[in-house]
Amino acid sequence: MNKIKLFDLSRQYKSLRVVLERKVSRVLASGQYIMGQNVKTFEKNVSKYLSVKNSVTCNSGTDALILALRCLDIGQGDEVITTPFTYFSTIEAILLVGAKPIFIDIDSTTFNIDHSQIETRITKKTKAILGVHIFGHPYEAEKIKRLCKKHKLKMIEDCAQSFGASIGKKQTGTIGDIGCFSFFPTKNLGCAGDGGMLVTDNDQLARKARMLRNHGGIERNEHNLVGYNSRLDEIQAVVLIEKLKLVDKLNNSRIRIAKEYSKSIVNKKIITPSYTNEVKHIFHQFTLIVDNRTRFTNYLTKNDIPFGIYYPKPAYMQPAVKKIIRNSPKLKVTEAVCKKCVSIPIFPELSKKEYDLIIDTINDY
Ligand SMILES: *Cc1c(COP(=O)(O)O)cnc(C)c1O
Repeated sequence: MNKIKLFDLSRQYKSLRVVLERKVSRVLASGQYIMGQNVKTFEKNVSKYLSVKNSVTCNSGTDALILALRCLDIGQGDEVITTPFTYFSTIEAILLVGAKPIFIDIDSTTFNIDHSQIETRITKKTKAILGVHIFGHPYEAEKIKRLCKKHKLKMIEDCAQSFGASIGKKQTGTIGDIGCFSFFPTKNLGCAGDGGMLVTDNDQLARKARMLRNHGGIERNEHNLVGYNSRLDEIQAVVLIEKLKLVDKLNNSRIRIAKEYSKSIVNKKIITPSYTNEVKHIFHQFTLIVDNRTRFTNYLTKNDIPFGIYYPKPAYMQPAVKKIIRNSPKLKVTEAVCKKCVSIPIFPELSKKEYDLIIDTINDY
């Protein structure tokens, strides 16, 4: 058996090679490379999949977050309530539009924002709550939505890790005002480069997002807003059209592997992630909690089991954030999780032989 990889896209490529190469060649021959018919088709298909009125593609998940904040007029002097346990770009987007992130601690079992701690942190300056469905596990979006209604706040969902995850009949991304997705290659729905999208049921917000992604205008040479160059290209769109057809199957493979891990990893030193049947968790990551992490990761390395640390420190401890927000908070659960989290390989094509070896190795620790 070859060395196990933390994430391996080459296996998926092998199974899709014929169709992808045909479709990409057709784009190359067409001469229409950016925001053409394939982008329109993908936006239509993805709206149908998510049951949402408008899908607006853009250049990346980070841009989707920036566009969402701009669409909702969030900027200088505004506060955005969010989680410190996320990829840096969630916080970067808030800071880039000039707003201030207000960090709330996370729940120790789901790693998601602890909704019960939000209300006391709402001030006159609060404009929005930006939650992250971390590792593909939906946060308590319905509860947060009620809070947003009560305090007249906007709600943005960072769904970069949760394409296909749902709460009841609602897909993540369709509960708040705007949902933001990333199609970075390693995400649950990934393209062959950078790509992103925001979704909303609000036609006016969608229109504004369409303007912002293309230099502030929809008509050629008419610029109503100062926007961005953040368009999706046709090659990414054809890849996404094909992968969207498979996304449920791919997510179900991840869920199947996660269930194997949960059932079979039995070691007093290791805590496996918790989940309930009330939400559809699509396991972008499978993240263990272990007390002496260095000792454990050394053991994994010695046994050729790859791992990832998502995330080694809370966003408020990043140097770039500390420069802007001087008195950073101290959030106990987040800091403990950052010290103890270890993500093990999970991707749809991980073989039974491979995950069985991972399970045995962890159980022998
Ligand atoms: C990946 C990711 C992003 C950013 O997406 P890009 O497409 O890489 O810009 C934002 N938020 C979270 C939680 C992510 O995991």
